[in-house]
Amino acid sequence: MDFEYTPEQLQLRKSVREFAEAEIAPHVMEWDEAQTFPSDVIRKLGGLGYMGSIFPEELGGAGFGYIEYCIIIEELSRVDGSVGIILAAHTSLCSNHIFKMGTDQQRRCYIPKLASGEWLGCWSLTEPEAGSDAAGTRTTAVLNEQGLWVLNGAKTFTTNAHYADVCVAMAVTDRAAAQHGISAFVIEKGTAGFRAGKKENKLGLRASATGEVIFENCLVPPTHLLGKQNDGFVDSLKVLDGGRISIAALGIGMAQGAYDAALRYSKTRRQFHRPISEFQAIQHKLVDMAVELDAARLLNYRAAWMMDRGRRVTRESAMAKLFASEAAVRIANEAVQIHGGYGFIKDYPVEKFYRDVKLCTIGEGTSEIQRLVIARQLLQS
Ligand SMILES: Cc1cc2nc3c(=O)[nH]c(=O)nc-3n(C[C@H](O)[C@H](O)[C@H](O)COP(=O)(O)OP(=O)(O)OC[C@H]3O[C@@H](n4cnc5c(N)ncnc54)[C@H](O)[C@@H]3O)c2cc1C
Repeated sequence: MDFEYTPEQLQLRKSVREFAEAEIAPHVMEWDEAQTFPSDVIRKLGGLGYMGSIFPEELGGAGFGYIEYCIIIEELSRVDGSVGIILAAHTSLCSNHIFKMGTDQQRRCYIPKLASGEWLGCWSLTEPEAGSDAAGTRTTAVLNEQGLWVLNGAKTFTTNAHYADVCVAMAVTDRAAAQHGISAFVIEKGTAGFRAGKKENKLGLRASATGEVIFENCLVPPTHLLGKQNDGFVDSLKVLDGGRISIAALGIGMAQGAYDAALRYSKTRRQFHRPISEFQAIQHKLVDMAVELDAARLLNYRAAWMMDRGRRVTRESAMAKLFASEAAVRIANEAVQIHGGYGFIKDYPVEKFYRDVKLCTIGEGTSEIQRLVIARQLLQS
């Protein structure tokens, strides 16, 4: 695979960076402290075409590929990972599940609204008792005599739960068939028996909202079944293949932000009558950070490149997500170290990157689960 950015990709990176610096950077700490959801920014991102970047233009998307999608998430997350995860969950999980598995009618109904940012999406797989073992889903969907699905149960840790206009949720439709008895449903805000529950108070990514989604005798018409009945879990794994590319991009963006801040600081902070960047110990840290950042980005762009060519990316996206998220945690840690005591203080951006970046080793499958996915792929070949 040859890799060189196209002029359009370079321009896209510049545009998103300018937007993030102007519209997000001034508010980042205030939103983090108050856990303020950045609704205005999300609306503006919709106007710029970034809320539906990977979908075709005829459905209101920008018609971009996954490399462009990665560039958008990286640049937003370089300034604020909360904005990055809001966009990633909306695009890769909710909208993409509808785009990939939906009927023409479902696509035409939802993708234009989601791509324009008029509507925000969320995706609910995880439950209190079904995290890594998502096949252990307990939420049920039962057909009643009127031919409506009746959903009951509770999801946890759903990104965007409290602000979403539409939710894609997985529920058991055939208990005896285990993971082959789970189906996906599209549920719109305002549907009776469907609501967001507790909003979590998080370590990081605090401007994004993560929480419960609750179904209490929620009646869903048969037209809102997404994909084939009982294929919801298998379809979710396919959706997660793409989602992991976006979580890797989220980690890469935050790591880039932490690295940029550390490089800048090392040139201005003086100790022993010279900038700390002149100490070899600091240079070696910066070198290791830069090398890991490049390696993570290249690994992720390989997965993105394959995705754009319709290839299966289960192994490549899990590798990219595993490496990028763990590298990002190491990079943010070293960025704090380079700042010394000031790295521990909220006046400097690295403190927040250090907290935010940890999510990347957990969301959309923990590092342990990525290793399990990769091992299965390696042993199959
Ligand atoms: C901020 C945030 C946003 C999220 N957004 C969403 C969302 O939008 N939609 C959604 O559906 N979910 C979402 N999640 C849920 C996330 O995907 C899960 O938290 C994750 O999959 C892990 O599940 P768990 O938390 O139940 O941990 P567990 O599954 O309970 O894992 C606990 C520990 O055990 C390890 N472990 C478990 N099984 C194995 C195994 N077989 N081998 C080795 N180790 C194992 C794990 O790696 C982990 O270290 C989000 C989570 C967070 C924190």
